[in-house]
Amino acid sequence: MTGATHLLAGAAVYSLARTNLTRIRNIVPLGLALAFCSHFLLDAVPHYELSMPWQYALGAVAGLFILLIAWRTGDLYPFLAGIAGALPDAICISGISPAFNRLHDFFHFKAAFPVPFHLIYQEAALALFLALFLVVNELGAPLPTSHRH
Ligand SMILES: [Zn+2]
Repeated sequence: MTGATHLLAGAAVYSLARTNLTRIRNIVPLGLALAFCSHFLLDAVPHYELSMPWQYALGAVAGLFILLIAWRTGDLYPFLAGIAGALPDAICISGISPAFNRLHDFFHFKAAFPVPFHLIYQEAALALFLALFLVVNELGAPLPTSHRH
């Protein structure tokens, strides 16, 4: 998956946990841990790998988007959760832990065939859904007046 999708998923997982796990007094540690773990679940899904320049460009856009939401709400944790969601790839790229790289590779989708490019459209749809979820859940976007009861 792209870093952008991991960023958005991490932020969305945190936002979802904070909204729904209201009996937990401090959701931050669990929310960040769930965001980190979301990385492995997403990597297991068959996907097309974009080149690193695209990865960095899309990651920057997604990161700025989440940062904008954090600025609007005054809550930086969804942004930090986004970072947690993308962190496993950063750890792998840094090469600081071969054991972690093996763990990451264990969960990562292994293509036994040429991966079709159109899978990127499915990932783009997922990323857009996650972005929309963040807008609605974090900013509490009201429904249009025609949908109010
Ligand atoms: Zn990964």
